[in-house]
Amino acid sequence: MVTSARSTAVSSSRPSRLDRVTIDPERMTAWIEAGATWQEVIDAAAPHGLAPLAGSFPGVTAVPYILGGGLSLMARRYGFAADHVRRIEVVTPDGELRNAEDDPDLFWALRGGGGNFGVVTAMEIDLFPVPTLYGGSLYYDLAATPGVLAAWHAWTQTVPDAVTSAVGVIPFPDIEPIPAALRGKHIAQLQLSIVPDVDGPACVTALRDRLGEPLIDTVKQRPFTESGEIFDEPARPDAYRSRNLLLSELDNQTLTTIPSLAGPNAKAMCIVGIRHLGGALSNKPAIDNAVGNRDAQYLLSVLSLGGDDQSDLYRAILDPWSKYAVGRSLNFSFGPLTQDELRETYDDYNRLAHLRAHYDPSNLLHPNHPITARR
Ligand SMILES: Cc1cc2nc3c(=O)[nH]c(=O)nc-3n(C[C@H](O)[C@H](O)[C@H](O)COP(=O)(O)OP(=O)(O)OC[C@H]3O[C@@H](n4cnc5c(N)ncnc54)[C@H](O)[C@@H]3O)c2cc1C
Repeated sequence: MVTSARSTAVSSSRPSRLDRVTIDPERMTAWIEAGATWQEVIDAAAPHGLAPLAGSFPGVTAVPYILGGGLSLMARRYGFAADHVRRIEVVTPDGELRNAEDDPDLFWALRGGGGNFGVVTAMEIDLFPVPTLYGGSLYYDLAATPGVLAAWHAWTQTVPDAVTSAVGVIPFPDIEPIPAALRGKHIAQLQLSIVPDVDGPACVTALRDRLGEPLIDTVKQRPFTESGEIFDEPARPDAYRSRNLLLSELDNQTLTTIPSLAGPNAKAMCIVGIRHLGGALSNKPAIDNAVGNRDAQYLLSVLSLGGDDQSDLYRAILDPWSKYAVGRSLNFSFGPLTQDELRETYDDYNRLAHLRAHYDPSNLLHPNHPITARR
């Protein structure tokens, strides 16, 4: 473990004894134990003006997020979180504690292959000199501004890699805890995250000019420690499931079908999310890893509330996009995938299947998305 005098160690109050985060500001790295959340990593890195490749919700545990690839708030600028892992300490199913970086196959498979190859106890990741983000959300009523998805789509084709953004199509119930401006409305929430390499406000001007005044505007310069407020996802645990497709492109005609398919009259309450990919996500990492589908330009996901699988609903929303589909994202698949669907999350599923058989010949591990061992 990195224990230089310059390092700062932070332990949370959670009972787990595997949640330590150790920052090395000089090397710009963090050694994170398997139970640490992104918020704990962010808070430890921030005093040094550094930030990790954390995602939209900082309450997520960092290690499993990275094992699944990791699509961060700075994804288009820096690539996948799995592309910025230096070392992994892992207990393989034979009971050995290993340094995965000494075994090229294991190191390749762990970075993107999920929980199929061992129990990771800690890893060393890169941090980035990003003390602040210009970001937040612009909320529009889809009934009043039906062109919001098309406008966001057009804007994404003009922005630099410093801009990572997404849109959530959300039917807000008409109940008290929901802000009055959103209550009972079908909303498009534009979620914007811009690293300080560029003039953030200038990047958003064209979008604001085209769409006019939003119902709510939370976009501002903010310390990275407040990055969770950009998407502002609820911290309350909920049962939900989801399916997704990675797409080569969007088309405006199919985009116009989303609000009605996913609206208040949908078979089950659902949230459609579209994330803009490309940029550095399309680059190969310095040391190759298992993350696939790097040519995808957008991620389209349907998240249904409640524990039931809503296959008909997922199909109704995702099938019209099949001609643009290049694969699926592991981290945005909540609920079991079929083997065919799991295969579509990778470029080289066969290599992963052979490595699963090698490292876990008796299927000791039970990850949420099990790769079938092939001998
Ligand atoms: C609100 C919310 C927002 C999200 N936003 C993003 C986002 O912006 N970008 C993104 O990429 N993802 C995002 N995710 C998805 C997230 O990355 C995955 O859910 C990921 O699996 C981590 O979640 P978890 O803590 O629930 O892990 P778990 O459900 O505990 O684990 C997920 C998988 O990892 C395996 N695993 C867990 N710990 C270890 C370990 N120590 N060693 C080996 N295997 C292990 C488990 O076996 C399991 O297979 C989001 C999830 C939520 C709930």
